Amino acid sequence: MSEESTHVITDKCADECYAACVDVCPVDCILPVPFPNEPFKKKPFMIIDPETCINCGLCLPECPIDAIVSSPEENPEAAKLNRDLVPDATEWQKQHGNWPTRPPNDPPHRPDNKLR
Ligand code: SF4
Repeated sequence: MSEESTHVITDKCADECYAACVDVCPVDCILPVPFPNEPFKKKPFMIIDPETCINCGLCLPECPIDAIVSSPEENPEAAKLNRDLVPDATEWQKQHGNWPTRPPNDPPHRPDNKLR
């Protein structure tokens, strides 16, 4: 699947990682990785591998803070970050597995995120 037609995880996910999206993805293309940039450097984050995503849309309604968008055009910067982090995320998952999931009603860690 090309980058032009994949879902994307935005930086709203950084330091949140409810990870509910992981359970519904039919092709296991949502990968854990420490966020690379301040102010959330090394905090839990997830990315979507654009080469594997089949754009089914199942993940989008699962995120309780709306951190997923349905196309790269909605957030080109995040789309680039998702793509760039695929090698690191693949390696990180091999070594550590996935982040633990959080209940969808768990209050967000970040004051700028709100439950839907
Ligand atoms: Fe996985 Fe579908 Fe979401 Fe792509 S759109 S990340 S295939 S659940």
